[in-house]
Amino acid sequence: MSRLILVTGGAGYVGSHTTIELLAAGYEVVVVDSCVNCVAGEEGKLPPSLVRVQELAKKSLVGFYRVSLTDALALAGVFEKHRVDAVVHFAALKAVGESVEKPLEYYQSNVSGTLTLLQVMREAGVHRLVYSSSATVYGAPQYLPADEQHPTGAGLTNPYGKTKYFCEQVMQDLAASDKEWRLVSLRYFNPVGAHPSGRIGEDPLGPPNNLMPFVAQVAVGKREELSVFGNDYDTPDGTGVRDYVHVVDLAEGHVMALDKAFSKSFRGYASYNLGTGRGVSVLEMIEAFCRASGKPVPYRVVGRRAGDVASVVASCSLAEEQLGWRARRDLQEMCEDAWRWQKLHPNGFRSCQ
Ligand code: UDP
Repeated sequence: MSRLILVTGGAGYVGSHTTIELLAAGYEVVVVDSCVNCVAGEEGKLPPSLVRVQELAKKSLVGFYRVSLTDALALAGVFEKHRVDAVVHFAALKAVGESVEKPLEYYQSNVSGTLTLLQVMREAGVHRLVYSSSATVYGAPQYLPADEQHPTGAGLTNPYGKTKYFCEQVMQDLAASDKEWRLVSLRYFNPVGAHPSGRIGEDPLGPPNNLMPFVAQVAVGKREELSVFGNDYDTPDGTGVRDYVHVVDLAEGHVMALDKAFSKSFRGYASYNLGTGRGVSVLEMIEAFCRASGKPVPYRVVGRRAGDVASVVASCSLAEEQLGWRARRDLQEMCEDAWRWQKLHPNGFRSCQ
């Protein structure tokens, strides 16, 4: 019998792409999502992102529950109904700027939500979890490329980053307290791109905070111009350098992390970087997107954004050695796939209801 994976936040960007790969790998999947940050669809029906996940995977979910992780009773009910073998945990708020304005909401959703999930898992006797973490736990990196040994938690400038760091700490303490736990934290660098079908992709509910969705909206004519946040950084062209990774590569990384969580030899807690190891500047990204889309992307250089650092690039050798994972899709593919999704869905999933 195939294993059953509970995916929290499965209707969102990385969650929906990962759910497809889990189904393709032969897992059964139950999704729990509060839909606070995605197009929910009609009452009693699946969110449009998950309707398409089922279409693309040619396989149905075992269940979908519109439940917040902070609702312990409702969550426990899901674990009572289904014999879950492991959890992949995405559900969280993720806007860095908003987290500075609304710290309580971020700690409640991301930290309390994770604590509740882990408690409910323990009650249900489920001890395997893959966690959606972030390179933001490294703060302003002290050296590059940042490997997993790099100190975490120092100099974090916003509540969002702290919630990811705190949850990693909780998982480490939990793993130390009871050897039943198998917890794998994946530190994403900058997820971009979309499923190559163009049927699912990133769908920010307001103006995008991140570079690639903003560039895509300028290219499609939804926004007039991009603001480039500073060109006086200590980088080759002065603009910020990041390690962008294709969302389908990331999704595959979760399947490999689950293999690790199920392997006989693994116990405890481990964290892995998921990136490409290649730095791309804002100007390089604009150029690559123009090439992929054939559209101009007008931009204006403005001042630096508070809290930004010059460069962040991953060392990914640990994930390659221990998970057998490597990012295979290049910048061109990231831009082409993001553009296909954007072009077909200028209003995201709102147009599919
Ligand atoms: N950036 C930009 N304009 C935007 C959004 C982002 O110039 O509208 C820059 C930002 O300063 C950083 C890079 O693009 O150098 C990636 O930013 P993003 O918010 O996508 O990711 P993060 O800051 O989390 O790495």
